[in-house]
Amino acid sequence: MRIADIRETSVALKSSLRNAVFDFSEMTTSVVAVITDVMREGKPVAGYAFNSTGRYACGAQMRARFIPRILAAKSETLLDEDGGNLDPEKILACMMQREKPGGHTERSVAIGTIEVAVWDAVAKIAGKPLHRVLAERYNGGKAIDKVPCYVGGGWYEPGKGLKELQDEIRARLDKGYVTMKIKVGGAPIPEDVARVEAALKVVSSSANLAVDANAGFDRARALAYAKALAPYKLRWFEEPTNPLDYALLAEVASIYDAPIGTGENLFSTQDVVNLVRFGGLRADRDIIQTDVPQSYGIVQFSRTLEMLKREGWGRASVFPHGGNQMTLAIVGGFGLGGCEAYPGVFGVFAGFADDARVEDGHLKLSDRPGIGFEAQNALYAVMQELAR
Ligand code: MG
Repeated sequence: MRIADIRETSVALKSSLRNAVFDFSEMTTSVVAVITDVMREGKPVAGYAFNSTGRYACGAQMRARFIPRILAAKSETLLDEDGGNLDPEKILACMMQREKPGGHTERSVAIGTIEVAVWDAVAKIAGKPLHRVLAERYNGGKAIDKVPCYVGGGWYEPGKGLKELQDEIRARLDKGYVTMKIKVGGAPIPEDVARVEAALKVVSSSANLAVDANAGFDRARALAYAKALAPYKLRWFEEPTNPLDYALLAEVASIYDAPIGTGENLFSTQDVVNLVRFGGLRADRDIIQTDVPQSYGIVQFSRTLEMLKREGWGRASVFPHGGNQMTLAIVGGFGLGGCEAYPGVFGVFAGFADDARVEDGHLKLSDRPGIGFEAQNALYAVMQELAR
């Protein structure tokens, strides 16, 4: 068997949302199709992925280096031991040929997106849902059929006040979600504190409310927010600092007892090592939020988890960034803390199977082979167009 072709395209998100740092008006994402010569039901098996949410499309790197490297490799060098399926670890190594150490973001999103599409193909060829393939390889075969799922929302939008924020949260709770995350840092502190208090009235417990500052604070503002928010003992305080400012993060952690979340803007295993060694984080409460398709993909993520284990961190501390079907399969497959959801935002790229139901804050995993994009009609139409 072999990879017959790899195609990519850039699709606009068309979103009017804003967080504390930037708006999404120009946001795009790369959609990838890895097309094999394996036939299922009369059609070649294709694996799909997209580069999650918040990093622009990166087709130039894919076209210039990563796709040609894979297509130029002898097909048998990319297969597993018995030659019956693709080997994502070998395909990752193939893409990393002649790549200089460091400088991760220039390539980690492009490589990770292709790698996750390879996994979709691997699971389809195996005839299993991706979460089960991952559980067999990376979690002792432990089958998990539902995962905790929280809502990432509470964005700043024109004309959106406290009442509209509360309405948004109520609508999510009505859908079966329990935990809500809202943005902070895009307004003056007293206004954000009023938003937190308004949100708390709806979610009923501080354990069900997290806030996200999107790494936009300087030192004075990070410490001021930490002081202002600490008494609320929220579920977590996300990205209070620049992702690489470990010293400031440690300073925030020293005055903020409740959990801190960070990591969605780190792209390598080494960055996460540095985070837990030097960021003052606490393995008993804080959470790590790696975005897997943006950080070299699933094989590299398994190495990050091994490293975290050596540093004393368990899988329950990992809540990957990205409310989508890829992250859902990864959370279930590795047995992680939970998954994010963005209902109703980011167009076709947000959300899960069209018939997915949230119950008591949990989402059931798909039984369909692969990642399960086939059950997301609008998104799958974009993907199929690419493979045609
Ligand atoms: Mg975030």
